[in-house]
Amino acid sequence: CGVFGIWGHPDAAKITYYGLHSLQHRGQEGAGIVVTDGHRLKGIRGEGLVNDVFNEKKLESLPGKSAIGHVRYGGAGKGGLENVQPLLFHSQSGSLALAQNGNLINANDLKHQLEMQGSIFQTTSDTEVLAHLIKRSGYLTIKDKMKNALSLVKGAYALILLTETELMIALDPKGMRPLSIGRIGDAYCVSSETCAYDLIGAEFVRDVEPGELIIINDKGLHAEQFTLSSSSAMCTMEYVYFSRPDSDIQGINIHTARKNLGKVLAREAQIEGDVVTGVPDSSISAAIGFAETAGIPYEMGLIKNRYIGRTFIKPSQELRERGVKMKLSPVRKVVEGKRVIMVDDSIVRGTTCKRIVRMLKEAGAKEVHVCISSPPMKNPCFYGIDTSTHEELIASVHSVEEIREIIGADSLTFLSVEGMLEAIGRKGYGKNCGQCLACFTGEYPTEIYPDTLLPHEK
Ligand code: 5GP
Ligand code: SF4
Ligand code: MG
Repeated sequence: CGVFGIWGHPDAAKITYYGLHSLQHRGQEGAGIVVTDGHRLKGIRGEGLVNDVFNEKKLESLPGKSAIGHVRYGGAGKGGLENVQPLLFHSQSGSLALAQNGNLINANDLKHQLEMQGSIFQTTSDTEVLAHLIKRSGYLTIKDKMKNALSLVKGAYALILLTETELMIALDPKGMRPLSIGRIGDAYCVSSETCAYDLIGAEFVRDVEPGELIIINDKGLHAEQFTLSSSSAMCTMEYVYFSRPDSDIQGINIHTARKNLGKVLAREAQIEGDVVTGVPDSSISAAIGFAETAGIPYEMGLIKNRYIGRTFIKPSQELRERGVKMKLSPVRKVVEGKRVIMVDDSIVRGTTCKRIVRMLKEAGAKEVHVCISSPPMKNPCFYGIDTSTHEELIASVHSVEEIREIIGADSLTFLSVEGMLEAIGRKGYGKNCGQCLACFTGEYPTEIYPDTLLPHEK
């Protein structure tokens, strides 16, 4: 998912719309905006892309100087309008709207407790659990209510909350999701990715720190730590796949990090070939880096129809397979008779790779060598990235050689974990260079509960 917020700008809803537009790659299932005019909150949300949900007229019906917004990435079976954020709650003591990127891993447990105490839930979203915790806490100020709620939830979350008079921002104690603060004139904004700032003419101020709670109101910005035990475990897949190439996370540019992933991969793979090609759009940067280090020309061996969303989002395997076919086409003249090195960012189920290898061979490629700019993904992610169960992860149930055979490649190379950390360039900064590596190593940076649910199981 992606979150965006702004405090103190006359065009709050419109700026949020543009912000969400630049975060569209983080989720295509739904979008929403909530504004405050200082007295009340008003929101619009809907299923689909930002452009499907909003138009000029709808944005004009959202007056106010502050707003938050969300683009939703949902796994299978978790759809429905009721789960589209921001979630908006009205009450006599004041309203609040919440938007979150990530996953609360003890949400199920907390929900059970809350239901025993009489809470009734309208959605299957873990964000609603947080809203209940905030509202039910006996503290007087919204800040103390929020701190109390945050002390009870576990997991990965980049969270923004809007009341009539305040914008609050919180990042989990491990800082697992990217979140940063920017400025347009006197207005503060907050965004999952820095690419939003260029589009709206804002300047980047700083990243939000792990375990930080930030409150913005008409008096200014106040930041504090809500926990004593914060240490970074940033999601490594943000560098490998999720984020946009023009974003920076912790000062590291995503395109540059991906190019380095490709360079280290080329060094580790030592594969001979005639052309290097990437799979648009996500592995182009890695393929360019690979080609540069291997000294093999980079070519456009595959073209993407840009009017189709990311295939991974489609719920069923059958739809996913059809999706991939609709999305990519080989450039016959580039690959015919050649030994093609195909660089992709990751293998999850193996569906994409298998189709592409077949496509390249059908287009006349003599050999197809697959090089993946991340290590085998053997473990499910509990932190909001719905890469499904162990059984669905091809690298969890098959060896590299078996995967090579399944996808029909002449060779298959994955990047090593050490190579990945070296490429991202955070070497030496704390444990695992301050990165989460759980889907590769199985070493989860937080506790995992017996009833921890994958996002799609909710
Ligand atoms: P597969 O077909 O192996 O299940 O999917 C892997 C491909 O899907 C990669 O090319 C990657 O770019 C793309 N992809 C789409 N969504 C995701 C996601 O959420 N995680 C990962 N790792 N890859 C994804
Ligand atoms: Fe990111 Fe993988 Fe960690 Fe999930 S398990 S947060 S995808 S690095
Ligand atoms: Mg891809």
